Amino acid sequence: MTRPNTAADSDQLTFQNPVTRYSTVEPPIQHQPEPGLDAELEPKADHGESSYRGTGRLNGRKALITGGDSGIGAAVAIAFAREGADVALNYLPDEHADADRIREIIEREGRTAVLLPGDLTDKALCASVVSDAVDALGGLDILVNNAGKQVVAPSLEELPDEQLTDTYAVNILAMFRITKAALAHLTPGSTIINTTSIEAYQPAPNLLDYASAKAAINNFTKGLAQQLATKGIRVNAVAPGPIWTPLQVSDGQEKEDLPKFDQVSPMGRAGQPTELAPAYVFFTSSESSYVIGETLHVNGGMPTP
Ligand code: NAD
Ligand code: MG
Repeated sequence: MTRPNTAADSDQLTFQNPVTRYSTVEPPIQHQPEPGLDAELEPKADHGESSYRGTGRLNGRKALITGGDSGIGAAVAIAFAREGADVALNYLPDEHADADRIREIIEREGRTAVLLPGDLTDKALCASVVSDAVDALGGLDILVNNAGKQVVAPSLEELPDEQLTDTYAVNILAMFRITKAALAHLTPGSTIINTTSIEAYQPAPNLLDYASAKAAINNFTKGLAQQLATKGIRVNAVAPGPIWTPLQVSDGQEKEDLPKFDQVSPMGRAGQPTELAPAYVFFTSSESSYVIGETLHVNGGMPTP
């Protein structure tokens, strides 16, 4: 069945066949320098621009989302704004065009969008991005640690030390640093959601640095969740499977593996970024008040422990 890749004809609450909600992506071989841009992704991904319907579940909330310019983070930003939240986005300065597009969509909803570019490998930036978000939004009660670096290396011998350090700096050290800085501002009812990965459970042999950092995120999430439970701050994680985002075409996969990207999950198609958004909304909203230290898998049926 052929359908457009972006499901502008239905929203996430429409009863529909999940298999045909989106067509297969069938990615052509392509390459972008790191970090990739959604603007140049072929075919385009669905971030919920016209397919995410809000229901007021996050009215008045204030969110900081790292990696909020593109992919999953952008879809979460749009969903949060449609649910009534104001949003601050962190991303790399080179990604300004993507971030600016998401800002426009959020402002069209009548919500505030704050752009806070900066490199999370910089320790000081991890603290300042939090204080800048707090100043601009007038507080903070949602933190989404979503930024991630994924670059393939065929063997351990070919994994450059600089890549290893950067992957750990972005994927896990920044998560510790940003969360630590945010704790000074988060009040009871606040929520923290960390983006982990199927790679934490099924590590690809060419993603040793990425996959092991994702496993660390799972462990961090479950430990911190217990530490903060009595403070009324809930910590949970979302574990995406194969999702069509710029991460994949900027060395997140071997170029020649891209055409097989749809076949990774049992459903037989890649996921779209907006299909992740309801998981983040659920963990963020007070409806999940007794859900702590949990990981929600959004992966088209890939088995997890
Ligand atoms: P994406 O490229 O759209 O988002 C990743 C973002 O990370 C970038 O937009 C960038 O802003 C940010 N980032 C990277 N390095 C940074 C740095 N040094 N400083 C600041 N920001 C930096 O891709 P995505 O797939 O939406 O990725 C979002 C999250 O989802 C990542 O944590 C990724 O590991 C995770 N994930 C993705 C998939 C997938 O299949 N796409 C699967 C599992 C997990
Ligand atoms: Mg990006």
